[in-house]
Amino acid sequence: MSNDTLFQEALTHFPGGVSSPVRAFRAVGGTPKFFRKAWGSRFEDEEGRRYVDLCMSWGPLILGHAVPEIISAAVEAMQEGLTFGAPSRRELALARRIKSMVPFLDKMRFVSSGTEAVMSALRAARGYTKRERILKFDGCYHGHSDAMLVKAGSGLVTFGEPSSAGVPRGFADLTTVISLDDLEALEATFDKLGHELAAAIIEPIPANNGLLVQDTTFLRRLRELCNAYGVVLIFDEVISGFRVAPGGAAELLGITPDLVTYGKIIGGGMPVGLYGGRKDIMAVISPDGPVYQAGTLSGNPVAMAAGLATLERLTPNVYRSLDQKGAQWAAAFEKMPGLHVPRVGSLLWPLFQPGVKRADRVESGAIARFNKMHGLLLKEGVYLPPSGYEVAFLSAAHGDEELAHVERAIGVVAAALK
Ligand code: PLP
Repeated sequence: MSNDTLFQEALTHFPGGVSSPVRAFRAVGGTPKFFRKAWGSRFEDEEGRRYVDLCMSWGPLILGHAVPEIISAAVEAMQEGLTFGAPSRRELALARRIKSMVPFLDKMRFVSSGTEAVMSALRAARGYTKRERILKFDGCYHGHSDAMLVKAGSGLVTFGEPSSAGVPRGFADLTTVISLDDLEALEATFDKLGHELAAAIIEPIPANNGLLVQDTTFLRRLRELCNAYGVVLIFDEVISGFRVAPGGAAELLGITPDLVTYGKIIGGGMPVGLYGGRKDIMAVISPDGPVYQAGTLSGNPVAMAAGLATLERLTPNVYRSLDQKGAQWAAAFEKMPGLHVPRVGSLLWPLFQPGVKRADRVESGAIARFNKMHGLLLKEGVYLPPSGYEVAFLSAAHGDEELAHVERAIGVVAAALK
């Protein structure tokens, strides 16, 4: 059946025809593809067209699609029961493995998505500090909980504005939003509001408005200010965790947060999130403490098995090879005239504009050009995330053959874009 026919039916079931908005191709135009199977770094749509996948389900699949060992681990767990709603040894095995990779994680709790992890970490910080205000940074995405769907107000150190209908103004008022890469605003915010802040949350490698790689001085100063004012520093490593290094951005940058949130890779393709960190903060979580947080499918055995099978395969060699691939693939994309590709390891951001560090500096012309490139690459069998504000993900399964395919496609598209 054609993608168009499937999409026509999807429009009758789902808002925008999709289960999550960016999948709708509204940004790049055209009709979304419906996929029927995937393997390695490739997938096939319902019309039988095959693509080199550079979206990789938005990050979980660091080893590739349908890795046999991960599938076997999940199937073995499934055969013993899909869910118990009670503790199982598989949670311990994954927690042990995670602790071996992230030394500062004293205590953790599994949840079912990155959104839930962030929402729970914020509640923990508020319960611990007995303060209500949250600081976040423009251009970082932390899932779709109310407190995080807030955009910068106008002017320095203002209260946030809801960036989605349905978010009460009262919630947005408790979230302060400032720009990334702006030390002055950071100092001024702590000066004015530091004693009100429960938490400052940041993607230490911001990867949701393109890849806005920050100077470590900015992140170090944030750490110092959080210490000085007793503010819980939360690193949202839902994308960077276990991708940019075994211990994520915290390890790569040498900065330790008080709490951290993970998702994506730790579930190996199954729905998992996690929040955790300092044991004195995690002591507030129910049933030990007064902060309530729960989940029917939290610590689901099948997801734990898929996550463990993934993390067990993340050896130093895998990270080395992902970094080398990142450099090779970025260089291949930069053969497209005008295209720049900021990169951290296997995270790449193809943009027709050089070095951007702040969300408000991305030019609309650069995005318009990306949109055109996206459609042309798709025709050549290369699937980039369907928005110029999203990063591309490589996996261990992206090999020389796929690179050659993409290089050929870039040649064709570069000629067409002239
Ligand atoms: N935090 C970050 C940094 C993310 O990139 C995302 C999702 O992309 C989330 C949180 C939300 O995670 P989920 O989509 O699993 O709810």
